[in-house]
Amino acid sequence: MLKKFFSFLALILALLAGVLVVNTMRSKAWPVGKASAPDPLPDSAIAHMSAAIQIPTISPEDTSHIDSVHFNQFRLFLERSYPLLHQQLTRTIIKNYSYVYEWKGSDSSLLPVILMGHYDVVPVELSAVKLWTVAPFGGELKDSAVWGRGAVDDKAAVISILESVEQLLREHFVPKRTILLCFGHNEESTGTGAIAIVDYLKQRNTRADLVIDEGGEITTGKLKDVQRPVAMIGVGEKGYVTFELAVEKPGGHSSKPAKETAIDILMAALYRLRRTQMPFRMTAPVSEFLNRVSGSSESFLNKMALSNRWLFERMVENKLASTPEGEAMLRTTIVPTILESGIRENVIPTNARAIVNCRIVTGETTKQVEDFIRAAIHDDRVKISIKGDFNTEPSALTDIQSPAFRLMEEAVQETVEGVIPVPYTMLGASDSRSYRSISNGVVNFTPLVNSKGYHGIDERLPLADFRRSIQFFSHIIKGSGKPLQ
Ligand SMILES: [Zn+2]
Repeated sequence: MLKKFFSFLALILALLAGVLVVNTMRSKAWPVGKASAPDPLPDSAIAHMSAAIQIPTISPEDTSHIDSVHFNQFRLFLERSYPLLHQQLTRTIIKNYSYVYEWKGSDSSLLPVILMGHYDVVPVELSAVKLWTVAPFGGELKDSAVWGRGAVDDKAAVISILESVEQLLREHFVPKRTILLCFGHNEESTGTGAIAIVDYLKQRNTRADLVIDEGGEITTGKLKDVQRPVAMIGVGEKGYVTFELAVEKPGGHSSKPAKETAIDILMAALYRLRRTQMPFRMTAPVSEFLNRVSGSSESFLNKMALSNRWLFERMVENKLASTPEGEAMLRTTIVPTILESGIRENVIPTNARAIVNCRIVTGETTKQVEDFIRAAIHDDRVKISIKGDFNTEPSALTDIQSPAFRLMEEAVQETVEGVIPVPYTMLGASDSRSYRSISNGVVNFTPLVNSKGYHGIDERLPLADFRRSIQFFSHIIKGSGKPLQ
Protein backbone atom coordinates (compact mmCIF):
# COMPACT_ATOMS: atom_id res chain seq x y z
CA MET A 1 0.00 0.00 0.00
CA LEU A 2 2.75 2.38 1.10
CA LYS A 3 4.77 1.52 -2.00
CA LYS A 4 1.79 2.35 -4.21
CA PHE A 5 1.39 5.68 -2.45
CA PHE A 6 5.05 6.58 -2.97
CA SER A 7 5.04 5.66 -6.62
CA PHE A 8 1.89 7.77 -7.05
CA LEU A 9 3.61 10.66 -5.28
CA ALA A 10 6.68 10.25 -7.49
CA LEU A 11 4.47 10.35 -10.57
CA ILE A 12 2.78 13.56 -9.39
CA LEU A 13 6.14 15.18 -8.63
CA ALA A 14 7.51 14.15 -12.03
CA LEU A 15 4.44 15.62 -13.72
CA LEU A 16 4.80 18.82 -11.73
CA ALA A 17 8.49 19.09 -12.62
CA GLY A 18 7.54 18.53 -16.26
CA VAL A 19 4.97 21.34 -16.18
CA LEU A 20 7.45 23.72 -14.51
CA VAL A 21 10.18 22.99 -17.05
CA VAL A 22 7.82 23.23 -20.05
CA ASN A 23 6.47 26.57 -18.81
CA THR A 24 10.01 27.82 -18.26
CA MET A 25 11.11 26.78 -21.75
CA ARG A 26 8.02 28.37 -23.29
CA SER A 27 8.73 31.70 -21.64
CA LYS A 28 9.96 33.71 -24.62
CA ALA A 29 12.28 36.69 -24.45
CA TRP A 30 10.67 40.02 -25.38
CA PRO A 31 11.31 40.50 -29.13
CA VAL A 32 14.39 42.52 -30.01
CA GLY A 33 13.33 45.58 -32.03
CA LYS A 34 15.37 47.13 -34.78
CA ALA A 35 16.85 50.37 -33.53
CA SER A 36 17.76 52.83 -36.26
CA ALA A 37 21.24 54.32 -36.45
CA PRO A 38 21.40 57.43 -34.29
CA ASP A 39 21.51 60.80 -36.00
CA PRO A 40 24.65 62.76 -35.20
CA LEU A 41 24.25 65.26 -32.39
CA PRO A 42 24.74 68.79 -33.79
CA ASP A 43 27.19 71.07 -31.97
CA SER A 44 24.42 73.64 -31.72
CA ALA A 45 22.37 71.23 -29.57
CA ILE A 46 25.28 70.77 -27.16
CA ALA A 47 25.76 74.54 -27.01
CA HIS A 48 22.05 75.01 -26.25
CA MET A 49 22.12 72.42 -23.47
CA SER A 50 25.16 74.06 -21.97
CA ALA A 51 23.62 77.54 -22.19
CA ALA A 52 20.37 76.29 -20.61
CA ILE A 53 22.29 74.93 -17.60
CA GLN A 54 24.17 78.21 -17.22
CA ILE A 55 20.92 80.06 -16.53
CA PRO A 56 20.16 79.15 -12.90
CA THR A 57 16.38 78.88 -13.04
CA ILE A 58 16.18 77.80 -9.41
CA SER A 59 12.74 77.04 -8.11
CA PRO A 60 12.14 79.22 -5.04
CA GLU A 61 10.47 77.70 -1.98
CA ASP A 62 8.19 80.75 -1.91
CA THR A 63 6.99 81.34 -5.47
CA SER A 64 6.53 85.07 -4.88
CA HIS A 65 10.33 85.28 -4.62
CA ILE A 66 10.98 84.03 -8.13
CA ASP A 67 14.27 85.16 -9.63
CA SER A 68 12.67 87.05 -12.52
CA VAL A 69 16.02 88.06 -14.04
CA HIS A 70 17.02 84.47 -14.74
CA PHE A 71 13.56 83.27 -15.71
CA ASN A 72 13.32 86.14 -18.23
CA GLN A 73 16.82 85.35 -19.43
CA PHE A 74 15.69 81.77 -20.06
CA ARG A 75 12.79 83.03 -22.19
CA LEU A 76 15.20 85.07 -24.29
CA PHE A 77 17.49 82.06 -24.59
CA LEU A 78 14.56 79.97 -25.92
CA GLU A 79 13.56 82.64 -28.43
CA ARG A 80 17.11 83.01 -29.75
CA SER A 81 17.95 79.31 -29.83
CA TYR A 82 14.77 78.07 -31.50
CA PRO A 83 13.84 80.69 -34.12
CA LEU A 84 11.70 78.48 -36.39
CA LEU A 85 9.75 77.16 -33.43
CA HIS A 86 9.03 80.70 -32.27
CA GLN A 87 7.97 81.74 -35.77
CA GLN A 88 5.72 78.81 -36.53
CA LEU A 89 4.29 77.66 -33.18
CA THR A 90 1.90 79.70 -31.06
CA ARG A 91 3.22 80.44 -27.60
CA THR A 92 0.92 81.11 -24.64
CA ILE A 93 2.49 82.35 -21.43
CA ILE A 94 0.86 81.03 -18.27
CA LYS A 95 1.49 82.45 -14.79
CA ASN A 96 4.29 84.63 -16.21
CA TYR A 97 6.84 81.85 -16.76
CA SER A 98 5.14 78.60 -17.79
CA TYR A 99 4.67 78.02 -21.53
CA VAL A 100 2.35 76.23 -23.91
CA TYR A 101 3.58 76.01 -27.52
CA GLU A 102 1.03 74.83 -30.04
CA TRP A 103 2.17 73.17 -33.26
CA LYS A 104 -0.98 72.87 -35.31
CA GLY A 105 -1.55 69.52 -36.96
CA SER A 106 -3.08 69.10 -40.43
CA ASP A 107 -5.94 66.91 -39.10
CA SER A 108 -7.98 68.77 -36.50
CA SER A 109 -10.12 65.70 -35.77
CA LEU A 110 -7.21 64.09 -33.89
CA LEU A 111 -6.66 64.96 -30.24
CA PRO A 112 -3.21 66.47 -29.51
CA VAL A 113 -0.12 64.82 -28.11
CA ILE A 114 1.40 66.73 -25.20
CA LEU A 115 5.14 66.72 -24.54
CA MET A 116 5.78 68.02 -21.04
CA GLY A 117 8.77 69.15 -19.08
CA HIS A 118 9.90 71.70 -16.51
CA TYR A 119 12.86 74.03 -16.74
CA ASP A 120 13.15 75.05 -13.09
CA VAL A 121 15.80 73.24 -11.07
CA VAL A 122 16.52 72.52 -7.42
CA PRO A 123 19.26 74.60 -5.78
CA VAL A 124 22.74 73.32 -5.02
CA GLU A 125 23.45 73.38 -1.27
CA LEU A 126 26.37 75.64 -0.45
CA SER A 127 28.07 72.84 1.48
CA ALA A 128 27.80 70.53 -1.53
CA VAL A 129 29.44 72.87 -4.07
CA LYS A 130 32.94 71.68 -3.12
CA LEU A 131 31.87 68.06 -3.71
CA TRP A 132 31.05 68.78 -7.35
CA THR A 133 33.69 67.93 -9.96
CA VAL A 134 32.68 71.02 -11.97
CA ALA A 135 30.90 74.32 -11.32
CA PRO A 136 27.24 73.31 -10.78
CA PHE A 137 25.94 76.00 -13.14
CA GLY A 138 28.89 75.96 -15.56
CA GLY A 139 27.30 73.78 -18.25
CA GLU A 140 30.73 72.30 -18.90
CA LEU A 141 31.31 69.69 -21.62
CA LYS A 142 33.55 67.01 -20.12
CA ASP A 143 33.97 63.25 -20.67
CA SER A 144 31.31 63.27 -23.42
CA ALA A 145 28.65 64.69 -21.10
CA VAL A 146 27.17 68.11 -20.36
CA TRP A 147 27.47 68.78 -16.63
CA GLY A 148 25.42 70.87 -14.26
CA ARG A 149 22.27 71.28 -12.24
CA GLY A 150 19.26 70.53 -14.43
CA ALA A 151 21.22 68.47 -16.99
CA VAL A 152 18.99 65.51 -16.12
CA ASP A 153 16.07 67.00 -14.22
CA ASP A 154 14.51 68.23 -16.40
CA LYS A 155 16.33 70.38 -18.94
CA ALA A 156 17.29 67.09 -20.64
CA ALA A 157 13.66 66.59 -21.67
CA VAL A 158 12.87 70.26 -22.34
CA ILE A 159 15.91 70.88 -24.55
CA SER A 160 15.56 67.49 -26.31
CA ILE A 161 11.93 68.26 -27.17
CA LEU A 162 12.86 71.73 -28.46
CA GLU A 163 15.78 70.38 -30.51
CA SER A 164 13.63 67.70 -32.12
CA VAL A 165 10.86 70.18 -33.02
CA GLU A 166 13.32 72.76 -34.44
CA GLN A 167 15.00 70.02 -36.49
CA LEU A 168 11.64 68.79 -37.88
CA LEU A 169 10.68 72.38 -38.75
CA ARG A 170 13.96 72.72 -40.64
CA GLU A 171 12.92 69.62 -42.60
CA HIS A 172 9.50 71.28 -43.31
CA PHE A 173 7.74 68.48 -41.45
CA VAL A 174 4.06 69.14 -40.74
CA PRO A 175 2.50 66.99 -38.01
CA LYS A 176 -0.84 65.37 -38.74
CA ARG A 177 -1.83 65.70 -35.12
CA THR A 178 -1.43 68.89 -33.10
CA ILE A 179 1.59 68.75 -30.80
CA LEU A 180 1.53 70.79 -27.61
CA LEU A 181 4.73 71.52 -25.73
CA CYS A 182 3.94 72.31 -22.09
CA PHE A 183 6.79 73.56 -19.92
CA GLY A 184 6.24 74.34 -16.24
CA HIS A 185 8.39 76.77 -14.26
CA ASN A 186 7.99 75.52 -10.68
CA GLU A 187 7.69 71.74 -10.64
CA GLU A 188 10.37 71.56 -7.96
CA SER A 189 8.37 73.72 -5.56
CA THR A 190 4.59 74.01 -5.80
CA GLY A 191 3.85 72.84 -9.35
CA THR A 192 1.29 75.62 -9.78
CA GLY A 193 2.60 76.28 -13.31
CA ALA A 194 1.53 72.82 -14.48
CA ILE A 195 -1.83 73.11 -12.73
CA ALA A 196 -2.46 76.49 -14.42
CA ILE A 197 -1.50 75.00 -17.80
CA VAL A 198 -4.08 72.23 -17.31
CA ASP A 199 -6.71 74.82 -16.29
CA TYR A 200 -5.94 76.76 -19.46
CA LEU A 201 -6.24 73.62 -21.61
CA LYS A 202 -9.52 72.72 -19.90
CA GLN A 203 -10.92 76.17 -20.65
CA ARG A 204 -10.16 75.51 -24.28
CA ASN A 205 -11.77 72.04 -24.01
CA THR A 206 -8.48 70.49 -25.02
CA ARG A 207 -8.06 66.78 -24.37
CA ALA A 208 -4.99 64.77 -25.36
CA ASP A 209 -4.50 61.18 -26.51
CA LEU A 210 -0.97 60.97 -25.16
CA VAL A 211 0.93 63.01 -22.54
CA ILE A 212 4.63 62.32 -21.95
CA ASP A 213 6.34 63.62 -18.82
CA GLU A 214 9.54 62.85 -16.92
CA GLY A 215 9.62 59.94 -14.47
CA GLY A 216 10.75 56.63 -15.90
CA GLU A 217 14.06 55.95 -17.60
CA ILE A 218 16.15 53.12 -19.03
CA THR A 219 17.88 50.92 -16.50
CA THR A 220 20.65 48.44 -17.07
CA GLY A 221 22.07 46.05 -14.51
CA LYS A 222 19.37 46.72 -11.93
CA LEU A 223 17.91 43.26 -12.38
CA LYS A 224 21.05 41.16 -11.95
CA ASP A 225 19.97 38.26 -14.15
CA VAL A 226 18.61 40.39 -17.01
CA GLN A 227 21.33 41.80 -19.28
CA ARG A 228 19.09 43.65 -21.71
CA PRO A 229 18.23 47.30 -21.06
CA VAL A 230 14.80 47.82 -19.52
CA ALA A 231 12.73 50.94 -20.30
CA MET A 232 10.57 51.74 -17.30
CA ILE A 233 7.53 53.58 -18.62
CA GLY A 234 5.41 55.08 -15.84
CA VAL A 235 1.69 54.39 -16.31
CA GLY A 236 0.40 55.67 -12.96
CA GLU A 237 1.38 57.01 -9.58
CA LYS A 238 0.98 55.75 -6.06
CA GLY A 239 -1.31 57.71 -3.75
CA TYR A 240 0.03 59.93 -1.00
CA VAL A 241 -1.23 60.61 2.51
CA THR A 242 0.28 61.94 5.71
CA PHE A 243 -1.12 61.19 9.17
CA GLU A 244 -0.44 62.76 12.52
CA LEU A 245 -0.36 60.45 15.54
CA ALA A 246 -0.80 62.47 18.74
CA VAL A 247 -0.77 61.49 22.39
CA GLU A 248 -1.74 63.80 25.25
CA LYS A 249 -1.05 62.75 28.85
CA PRO A 250 -0.24 65.12 31.71
CA GLY A 251 3.51 65.18 32.28
CA GLY A 252 5.39 66.39 35.33
CA HIS A 253 8.79 66.49 36.95
CA SER A 254 11.28 64.09 35.46
CA SER A 255 12.53 63.12 38.94
CA LYS A 256 9.38 61.08 39.63
CA PRO A 257 8.14 59.71 36.32
CA ALA A 258 4.87 57.82 36.00
CA LYS A 259 4.97 54.24 34.68
CA GLU A 260 3.96 55.46 31.23
CA THR A 261 4.42 58.88 29.61
CA ALA A 262 3.06 60.43 26.41
CA ILE A 263 6.41 59.60 24.76
CA ASP A 264 6.22 55.96 25.89
CA ILE A 265 2.71 55.54 24.51
CA LEU A 266 3.67 57.06 21.17
CA MET A 267 6.89 55.05 20.86
CA ALA A 268 5.10 51.79 21.62
CA ALA A 269 2.46 52.68 19.00
CA LEU A 270 5.13 53.42 16.38
CA TYR A 271 6.94 50.21 17.24
CA ARG A 272 3.77 48.17 16.68
CA LEU A 273 3.06 50.05 13.47
CA ARG A 274 6.53 49.41 12.05
CA ARG A 275 6.40 45.73 12.93
CA THR A 276 3.31 45.15 10.81
CA GLN A 277 3.05 45.90 7.11
CA MET A 278 0.19 46.24 4.72
CA PRO A 279 -0.05 43.09 2.57
CA PHE A 280 1.60 42.73 -0.81
CA ARG A 281 -0.57 43.62 -3.77
CA MET A 282 0.49 42.39 -7.20
CA THR A 283 -0.79 45.26 -9.38
CA ALA A 284 -1.28 44.93 -13.12
CA PRO A 285 1.81 47.03 -14.06
CA VAL A 286 4.12 45.06 -11.74
CA SER A 287 2.73 41.76 -12.99
CA GLU A 288 3.24 42.81 -16.61
CA PHE A 289 6.73 44.07 -15.81
CA LEU A 290 7.63 40.63 -14.40
CA ASN A 291 6.06 38.84 -17.39
CA ARG A 292 8.08 40.90 -19.84
CA VAL A 293 11.47 40.50 -18.18
CA SER A 294 11.02 36.82 -17.24
CA GLY A 295 11.83 35.48 -20.71
CA SER A 296 15.16 37.32 -20.69
CA SER A 297 16.30 36.14 -17.27
CA GLU A 298 19.62 34.33 -17.41
CA SER A 299 19.00 32.50 -14.16
CA PHE A 300 17.08 29.27 -14.81
CA LEU A 301 15.61 29.29 -11.29
CA ASN A 302 14.39 32.89 -11.54
CA LYS A 303 13.00 32.19 -14.99
CA MET A 304 11.21 29.11 -13.67
CA ALA A 305 9.72 31.02 -10.75
CA LEU A 306 8.61 33.89 -13.00
CA SER A 307 7.12 31.53 -15.61
CA ASN A 308 5.20 29.56 -12.98
CA ARG A 309 3.72 32.34 -10.92
CA TRP A 310 0.64 30.21 -10.10
CA LEU A 311 3.00 28.24 -7.83
CA PHE A 312 5.77 30.69 -6.92
CA GLU A 313 3.88 34.00 -6.57
CA ARG A 314 4.84 34.38 -2.92
CA MET A 315 8.49 33.62 -3.63
CA VAL A 316 8.54 36.09 -6.52
CA GLU A 317 7.01 38.78 -4.30
CA ASN A 318 9.52 38.16 -1.52
CA LYS A 319 12.42 38.35 -3.93
CA LEU A 320 11.12 41.59 -5.45
CA ALA A 321 10.59 43.01 -1.95
CA SER A 322 14.21 42.35 -0.97
CA THR A 323 15.08 45.93 -1.98
CA PRO A 324 13.25 49.01 -0.64
CA GLU A 325 12.37 50.05 -4.20
CA GLY A 326 10.97 46.62 -5.05
CA GLU A 327 9.00 46.47 -1.85
CA ALA A 328 7.54 49.92 -2.52
CA MET A 329 6.24 48.60 -5.85
CA LEU A 330 4.32 45.88 -4.06
CA ARG A 331 2.69 47.50 -1.08
CA THR A 332 1.52 50.67 0.60
CA THR A 333 4.50 51.97 2.55
CA ILE A 334 4.04 53.60 5.95
CA VAL A 335 6.95 55.36 7.65
CA PRO A 336 7.35 57.92 10.47
CA THR A 337 9.18 61.01 9.24
CA ILE A 338 8.84 63.56 12.08
CA LEU A 339 8.83 63.10 15.87
CA GLU A 340 8.11 65.94 18.25
CA SER A 341 7.91 66.09 22.01
CA GLY A 342 9.46 67.77 25.00
CA ILE A 343 10.71 71.25 25.84
CA ARG A 344 13.17 70.77 28.71
CA GLU A 345 15.42 67.96 29.82
CA ASN A 346 13.79 67.83 33.28
CA VAL A 347 10.16 68.10 32.21
CA ILE A 348 8.06 65.11 31.17
CA PRO A 349 6.07 66.43 28.21
CA THR A 350 2.28 66.37 28.04
CA ASN A 351 2.23 65.95 24.27
CA ALA A 352 4.03 63.70 21.85
CA ARG A 353 3.35 63.55 18.16
CA ALA A 354 4.62 61.76 15.10
CA ILE A 355 4.10 62.42 11.42
CA VAL A 356 3.70 59.29 9.34
CA ASN A 357 3.97 59.43 5.56
CA CYS A 358 2.29 56.80 3.40
CA ARG A 359 2.46 55.97 -0.32
CA ILE A 360 -0.66 54.09 -1.33
CA VAL A 361 -0.45 51.26 -3.82
CA THR A 362 -2.93 51.05 -6.72
CA GLY A 363 -6.13 49.37 -5.55
CA GLU A 364 -6.07 50.70 -1.98
CA THR A 365 -7.47 53.90 -0.48
CA THR A 366 -6.62 56.45 2.20
CA LYS A 367 -9.48 55.07 4.30
CA GLN A 368 -7.99 51.55 4.18
CA VAL A 369 -4.58 52.87 5.21
CA GLU A 370 -6.09 54.78 8.13
CA ASP A 371 -8.01 51.68 9.26
CA PHE A 372 -4.84 49.62 9.00
CA ILE A 373 -2.85 52.10 11.11
CA ARG A 374 -5.61 52.24 13.75
CA ALA A 375 -5.74 48.46 13.99
CA ALA A 376 -1.93 48.09 14.09
CA ILE A 377 -1.56 50.66 16.87
CA HIS A 378 -4.56 49.34 18.77
CA ASP A 379 -4.53 52.11 21.37
CA ASP A 380 -7.31 54.71 21.60
CA ARG A 381 -5.03 57.10 23.44
CA VAL A 382 -3.21 57.70 20.15
CA LYS A 383 -5.28 60.14 18.12
CA ILE A 384 -4.94 59.68 14.37
CA SER A 385 -5.70 62.49 11.92
CA ILE A 386 -4.92 63.32 8.29
CA LYS A 387 -2.40 66.15 7.76
CA GLY A 388 -0.74 67.85 4.83
CA ASP A 389 -1.66 69.48 1.53
CA PHE A 390 -0.54 66.90 -0.98
CA ASN A 391 -2.80 63.99 -0.08
CA THR A 392 -4.17 62.11 -3.03
CA GLU A 393 -5.50 58.66 -3.86
CA PRO A 394 -3.53 56.42 -6.26
CA SER A 395 -3.89 57.64 -9.85
CA ALA A 396 -5.73 55.85 -12.60
CA LEU A 397 -3.53 53.65 -14.78
CA THR A 398 -2.81 54.23 -18.46
CA ASP A 399 -3.92 51.23 -20.51
CA ILE A 400 -0.86 49.35 -21.73
CA GLN A 401 -2.90 47.79 -24.54
CA SER A 402 -3.71 51.26 -25.92
CA PRO A 403 -2.15 52.46 -29.20
CA ALA A 404 -0.70 55.40 -27.22
CA PHE A 405 1.33 53.01 -25.08
CA ARG A 406 2.29 51.03 -28.18
CA LEU A 407 3.69 54.22 -29.74
CA MET A 408 5.86 54.61 -26.64
CA GLU A 409 7.08 51.03 -27.01
CA GLU A 410 7.87 51.60 -30.68
CA ALA A 411 9.71 54.86 -30.05
CA VAL A 412 11.84 53.35 -27.33
CA GLN A 413 12.63 50.24 -29.39
CA GLU A 414 13.49 52.49 -32.29
CA THR A 415 16.08 54.31 -30.19
CA VAL A 416 17.56 51.64 -27.87
CA GLU A 417 18.94 48.39 -29.24
CA GLY A 418 17.49 45.30 -27.53
CA VAL A 419 15.39 47.23 -25.01
CA ILE A 420 12.48 45.66 -23.10
CA PRO A 421 9.77 48.30 -22.56
CA VAL A 422 7.87 47.67 -19.31
CA PRO A 423 5.09 49.51 -17.48
CA TYR A 424 5.54 50.56 -13.87
CA THR A 425 3.81 52.63 -11.23
CA MET A 426 5.77 55.65 -10.07
CA LEU A 427 6.51 55.73 -6.37
CA GLY A 428 6.45 59.53 -6.13
CA ALA A 429 4.10 62.21 -7.43
CA SER A 430 4.78 64.28 -10.57
CA ASP A 431 3.40 67.28 -12.46
CA SER A 432 1.72 64.95 -14.93
CA ARG A 433 -0.82 63.90 -12.30
CA SER A 434 -2.97 66.96 -13.05
CA TYR A 435 -2.95 66.06 -16.76
CA ARG A 436 -4.92 62.89 -16.03
CA SER A 437 -8.05 65.05 -15.94
CA ILE A 438 -7.59 65.81 -19.66
CA SER A 439 -6.05 62.55 -20.90
CA ASN A 440 -6.27 58.78 -20.47
CA GLY A 441 -2.81 58.41 -21.97
CA VAL A 442 -0.41 59.94 -19.43
CA VAL A 443 3.00 58.25 -19.32
CA ASN A 444 6.26 59.10 -17.58
CA PHE A 445 9.46 58.44 -19.44
CA THR A 446 12.68 60.03 -20.72
CA PRO A 447 15.13 57.74 -22.55
CA LEU A 448 18.16 58.40 -20.31
CA VAL A 449 20.20 55.39 -19.18
CA ASN A 450 20.80 55.09 -15.40
CA SER A 451 20.79 58.90 -15.11
CA LYS A 452 23.15 60.41 -12.61
CA GLY A 453 23.17 63.20 -10.08
CA TYR A 454 19.67 64.65 -10.24
CA HIS A 455 18.88 66.54 -7.05
CA GLY A 456 22.42 65.51 -6.04
CA ILE A 457 26.07 65.97 -6.90
CA ASP A 458 27.63 65.95 -10.39
CA GLU A 459 24.36 65.94 -12.31
CA ARG A 460 25.25 65.32 -15.95
CA LEU A 461 23.79 64.32 -19.27
CA PRO A 462 25.90 61.97 -21.43
CA LEU A 463 25.82 63.08 -25.07
CA ALA A 464 24.63 59.58 -26.05
CA ASP A 465 21.55 60.06 -23.83
CA PHE A 466 20.96 63.53 -25.22
CA ARG A 467 21.15 62.28 -28.82
CA ARG A 468 18.83 59.38 -28.01
CA SER A 469 16.37 61.69 -26.32
CA ILE A 470 16.10 64.00 -29.34
CA GLN A 471 15.63 60.98 -31.59
CA PHE A 472 12.98 59.55 -29.27
CA PHE A 473 10.85 62.72 -29.31
CA SER A 474 11.21 62.97 -33.11
CA HIS A 475 9.92 59.44 -33.39
CA ILE A 476 6.96 60.21 -31.15
CA ILE A 477 6.07 63.31 -33.20
CA LYS A 478 6.44 61.52 -36.54
CA GLY A 479 4.50 58.48 -35.30
CA SER A 480 1.70 60.51 -33.73
CA GLY A 481 -0.33 60.72 -36.96
CA LYS A 482 -1.94 57.31 -36.42
CA PRO A 483 -4.89 56.61 -34.11
CA LEU A 484 -3.75 56.66 -30.48
CA GLN A 485 -6.84 55.63 -28.50
ZN1 LIG B 1 11.82 66.93 -12.45
